[in-house]
Amino acid sequence: MVEGNGLLNRRRLTPTEGSNPSLSAVTRDALKCTKAMERRASLHTIGCRLNQSETAVFSHQLRTSGFQVVPFGEPTDLFILNTCSVTHGAEADCRRAIRQTLQRSPNAFIAVTGCYAQTGASTLGMIPGVDLIVGSQHKMAVLDLIPSLEKRNAPEIVRGNPNRNDFVIDGIGHFETTRATLKVQDGCDFMCSFCNIPFARGRERSRTMDDLLREGQALVDRGHKEIVLSGVNIGQYESEGNSFLDVIKYLEKVSGIVRIRISSIEPTTIPDALLEHMAQSSILCHYLHVPLQSGDDDVLRGMQRRYSVCEYVEFIEKAAHIIPGACFGTDVMVGFPGEGENEFERTVDVVNALPFSYLHVFSYSERPGTAAEKIVEKVHPRIVKARSRKLRDISQSKRLASCQRYIGTTVSVLFEQRDSDGCWIGLTGTYVRVSVRADEELANKLRPVHIAGMMGDKAVGTLVARNSRSEKHLVMVS
Ligand code: SF4
Repeated sequence: MVEGNGLLNRRRLTPTEGSNPSLSAVTRDALKCTKAMERRASLHTIGCRLNQSETAVFSHQLRTSGFQVVPFGEPTDLFILNTCSVTHGAEADCRRAIRQTLQRSPNAFIAVTGCYAQTGASTLGMIPGVDLIVGSQHKMAVLDLIPSLEKRNAPEIVRGNPNRNDFVIDGIGHFETTRATLKVQDGCDFMCSFCNIPFARGRERSRTMDDLLREGQALVDRGHKEIVLSGVNIGQYESEGNSFLDVIKYLEKVSGIVRIRISSIEPTTIPDALLEHMAQSSILCHYLHVPLQSGDDDVLRGMQRRYSVCEYVEFIEKAAHIIPGACFGTDVMVGFPGEGENEFERTVDVVNALPFSYLHVFSYSERPGTAAEKIVEKVHPRIVKARSRKLRDISQSKRLASCQRYIGTTVSVLFEQRDSDGCWIGLTGTYVRVSVRADEELANKLRPVHIAGMMGDKAVGTLVARNSRSEKHLVMVS
């Protein structure tokens, strides 16, 4: 293995020339005329929404460089894997994806980037057939590190400690979905004891306002009606005196934008001003996903979270008061070392008491180098499984209850695609999944829907006819 830590005047591969050309606009235009010589590239993402947004930018960069981007699993000449290291399972999935690709495309150039490339480069480097491993600092320049698709005798590792500078991203995410994700921030300084993200992605840094507005406008111009803001710890955004709330206010002015949704955000980073802004905004979805992790103070202290149970509960109650009807979701971690039956039951009580519409339930996974690794009182996997099941059941009941409150109302739905029964499926701003039977094409359309009932965990309704009396008089619920 060859390990370096920088981009030493690298030049990006163009598929027609093989090695060492620059990616000038002229070259890109020339490549568009050489379809016959197109090479295939495939991409795969393991992990979070932030990884997905970065892979979408790789997809754009590959397409504008003349590659034919084929679905993961199809024969390919170049494979870029965006990895995750949040759990043992995620890391195993990454290794499996590499092996699967090499089985089908033994001559493909294999480039691996992302969190696992940063924390587990030596393990990845031992997989025969891996050519390039790029850590977090140079992740977005992975294509510039591939001057040729020629397989290498040993993997090159390009890895350094991510710096804290504001950043820009070259390109516009290519999304197949109606919703597009916009990366506004990276890294985290919070050092929760179970989490290796500060090691994998580095410390907090923010995307410049000009650059994120550029991509935001480009995504809207491409037809995306909903933009999801994403980062590792987005509430900590700070660039040239601008806060995360400023990001939202500027994006709301982007011409043609219909919806902005905040992805997961830490409870201690949400000022009252953001809640008040959300309450009066018709663009910012009335939706907050705020990780709780545990409803027990001792466990929260062990996790080195920055709030007590009481402070978290007060926050959600305040937010629910300021934004009536908002959707609240949360993450809960099960099996953190030292979580006994009493601690778990306190978590159950807290999630039952708060107005969550759903829970994301995760099992604790020991991560090398984290503070929690040293805590000895581990929880047996059988108990973790049973506790996870209990919380998932609660989540399911909460999802149904939150859906039910919409019966008899009219909501605004952004439609995505048909399901296997031929019904159109879409989402409200408050994250309710809505199903409608309709002949007309509804993909990426925002339409009022009258909710009549429920089927499974979906609300079922009918389109409100344009200019109908009911549409004129409807009270729309976001
Ligand atoms: S806030 Fe905690 S859990 Fe979230 S990324 Fe930062 S260290 Fe990890």
